[in-house]
Amino acid sequence: MARPIFVLDLEATCWEDRGHYTVDATEIIEIGCVMATPAGEVLDEFGTFVRPVNDPVLSEFCTRLTSITQQDVDQAPVYQDAMRLLDDWVSHRGGIWGSWGNYDFREFASMEQRYPSHCEFQKKLHVNLKKSWRQTTRHSRTGLRSALAFHGLAFEGTHHRGIDDARNVARLLPFIDYHKILAGVGALQSDNS
Ligand code: AMP
Ligand code: MG
Repeated sequence: MARPIFVLDLEATCWEDRGHYTVDATEIIEIGCVMATPAGEVLDEFGTFVRPVNDPVLSEFCTRLTSITQQDVDQAPVYQDAMRLLDDWVSHRGGIWGSWGNYDFREFASMEQRYPSHCEFQKKLHVNLKKSWRQTTRHSRTGLRSALAFHGLAFEGTHHRGIDDARNVARLLPFIDYHKILAGVGALQSDNS
């Protein structure tokens, strides 16, 4: 069997004026991850909220966007502990990780610089599944909802919740050429798509 793909989606602290800050000013507040076969069969799932430490109080905007409440994060592990939980769940299973776009890769890289977790998960190679999907379908509508709609699918669950976003990205795997995924693994993360 081909190695699994860990489809991951992060939520982070945010504010209305998105254009005025970078990932270096934000902190992860949810990690959602679905372990799936390249054909899209879900094998296992992991999800946790994460407690931000620099900006511990979520903005109203952030709660409205993500539906993640102050209480959700107040009771959650901090980033390094959450990454240990992720590692425990992965439990040395091989495979790459993928996300819809490069945002999640960049958010992880920034968190690791500020709050090093030294976790095993960070050693996995990343693939931008949005790019692989675009290369497969030759279609430019690349929002998650519109990609699903392209295949006649509706988003299931709550958009901008990490675990639901990850589940919905995994639903697109059957429509992505696995060779395009393999070709994109570990590609330079310089583009922001
Ligand atoms: P997503 O996976 O699309 O839910 O987005 C991940 C994170 O990006 C969110 O948790 C926010 O921190 C940020 N984000 C997404 N959309 C917006 C937006 N419209 N305005 C500000 N931040 C956003
Ligand atoms: Mg999301």
